[in-house]
Amino acid sequence: MTSCRHANLELLVERKITMRCRRCHLTLDAEELGDGHCPECFDSSGTRHFDFEELTHGGGQGARYRCEECGIVITGPP
Ligand SMILES: [Zn+2]
Ligand SMILES: [Zn+2]
Repeated sequence: MTSCRHANLELLVERKITMRCRRCHLTLDAEELGDGHCPECFDSSGTRHFDFEELTHGGGQGARYRCEECGIVITGPP
């Protein structure tokens, strides 16, 4: 048994990015979208639009930390 007090916490950064189409406001996972065009706009107008804005999920909620000593992952406020 270890008596780790989890003193050395490393912040795990999750770079999850959502792309939102400026025209139809469809949201897509950035990984899913890749370099592609908006499928919704393509469906409705047959035109390839690459007009997206990035929505990043920043902010404090759901930050995760990993203890460098024992490797446990803790979810909590920063
Ligand atoms: Zn620990
Ligand atoms: Zn669109």
